[in-house]
Amino acid sequence: MPALLGAQQFHIYRMRRDGKKRDELFQIVTENAADMIALVDVKGRRLYNSPAYKRILGYSPAELSETSAFEQIHPDDRYKILEAAREARSTGVGKKLEYRIRHKDGSWRVLESVAGTIRDQNGDVSKLVIVNRDITDRKRAEEQAEHNSFHDSLTGLPNRRLFLDRLEHVFERSRRGHGPQFAVLFVDLDRFKAFNDTMGTSVGDQVIAEVGRRLGACLREEDTAARPGGDPGAHHAVLSRLGGDEFTILIEAIRDPSDAMRVGQRILAALAALFLVEGREVQTSASIGIALSTAAHIRGEDALQDAEAAARRAQALGGGRCELYDEAMHARAVGRLKLESELRAALEKQEFRLFYQPIVQLESGDIRGFEALVRWQHPGQGLISPDKFLAAAEDSGLLAATGEWILRTACRQLQHWTEAMPGSEALAVAVNVSPRQLAGERFAHGVEKILWETGLAPERLHLELGESVADAEAQLAESVLARLKSLHVRVTLDDFGAGHSSLAALQRLPLDAVKIDRPLVAAMLADRRRMEMLELIITIGQRLRLKTIAVGVESARQVERLRAIGCDLGQGYYFSPPVDAAAAEKLLRQHTLGAARAADAR
Ligand code: C2E
Ligand code: CA
Repeated sequence: MPALLGAQQFHIYRMRRDGKKRDELFQIVTENAADMIALVDVKGRRLYNSPAYKRILGYSPAELSETSAFEQIHPDDRYKILEAAREARSTGVGKKLEYRIRHKDGSWRVLESVAGTIRDQNGDVSKLVIVNRDITDRKRAEEQAEHNSFHDSLTGLPNRRLFLDRLEHVFERSRRGHGPQFAVLFVDLDRFKAFNDTMGTSVGDQVIAEVGRRLGACLREEDTAARPGGDPGAHHAVLSRLGGDEFTILIEAIRDPSDAMRVGQRILAALAALFLVEGREVQTSASIGIALSTAAHIRGEDALQDAEAAARRAQALGGGRCELYDEAMHARAVGRLKLESELRAALEKQEFRLFYQPIVQLESGDIRGFEALVRWQHPGQGLISPDKFLAAAEDSGLLAATGEWILRTACRQLQHWTEAMPGSEALAVAVNVSPRQLAGERFAHGVEKILWETGLAPERLHLELGESVADAEAQLAESVLARLKSLHVRVTLDDFGAGHSSLAALQRLPLDAVKIDRPLVAAMLADRRRMEMLELIITIGQRLRLKTIAVGVESARQVERLRAIGCDLGQGYYFSPPVDAAAAEKLLRQHTLGAARAADAR
């Protein structure tokens, strides 16, 4: 006989020896066990729940009999339980399982359970005995320890370890060519050690915690600032406290170095505001270093080192500033940010101008419409071409406002000509739309509004889209275009024959016309193969009932050939370069007068 203690154990021993009252034995053990013990039949119906249920989950046996065990289990864990029960029934062995169950007070408890099986006389499994142990407190402690090992206790931010982990992940993605370029910002508070020494570490800690909050707020702001005008979630970022007075930020996707620079400057501005600590006002500033991922990096950590080196340079230059690791890149990014702020002012001061280039029917020589082309009338530098500033306008979030101004001005101008010049009722205006502009959430709405305001017939507005529209955000573009098409706005595919997905764009977009890429037209007379390409494009256009427009027509011989192979329309210096509205109106008058005179003579 084993060395058992106490009367109850002795009682158990005797019963087992007798081998008779197994049920009674079961009851005594379960009634007294710390763990929750349940007996269920093969259908999962409750046959018995031990008293520990009341203590751990708050339900009395009577209450339990009225509730479904399954419904108390966390929905995400139910499948796991079903699987385990099925396995226990078929194999006779239950494996250890963790799941969450609801306490009567509504909170979740975590249980660890093992199931055993009871067989009937035929040897079939008839019941399951489930022993559940409450491991909620242990789990909580484990989670807390896990969180603590990846977070900084003062700011609650990710720590160096978690940051490096994230950095390596993003680095790998970018290196395998699946991910975009990323940036690392290293933020180091200026003269913080001296500050700590004079003010005391408790004040220092409070400043650090507040810096963490301000940095977080900057990133959230940047995240939302990136949204209007499309490109959702362009700036997903990870902020961490590296240690001491050093913070790091990983911006997972950037389009241009100036994006990272903009975040850096936003941070400098946020830190410049006074801190109120223990009733005292204190001021701080930071040296920020920025590095972009490059092919020269072998590990993600290399980018962090570059960023730190740049921060040291910022510090050496007096602090309170933001430096890019690559000095040439730094100069470009600064130039870019300057350009962006000038552009913002240009929009307010109305320095943009629209020029108009006639689109001519090759057969008759009649002007059928104009392409609107934007220019920037810079006070110091004269007329600036769109290639030099449109990308910057897009990146700085000015795209939607600029695009709307262009559309409205073009539509108003056409409406003005219609009213001023009889015979111009059929003229069209073509307006270029970039993919990001089209993807902007308010684009279709903006077009509707402008058509309504100006009263222009929708079929006289032709939107020129590049093929990348079909590529980029295909589904979105399709739904926006469908909406515009339902208004009867016309759609032209720009630069046809230039890219690699022109044919895909032809299939996807609801087109009315295609514009043939300028280099193709330029080379048509000199290069036999190009000529054949051009003829093919025109044939495709005719088959699909799309108008074909040749861009960059510069000579009478080109006009002749284009007309001979059936191209519908032409645009280029041969007819006229883009000109301002007054000159375009003059062209129209000469042209309509000329046409009228020709008609008179006949
Ligand atoms: P694009 O849409 O391909 O516009 C045609 C460009 O070719 C214009 O340059 C025009 O001046 C030029 N061009 C026209 N005929 C000839 C010719 O016979 N010979 C030569 N060498 N060039 C000719 P521009 O105005 O500098 O515009 C450049 C690009 O900027 C445009 O290319 C267009 O993609 C973009 N763009 C211009 N205005 C706007 C706008 O309002 N919105 C948007 N989103 N993009 C615009
Ligand atoms: Ca165009």
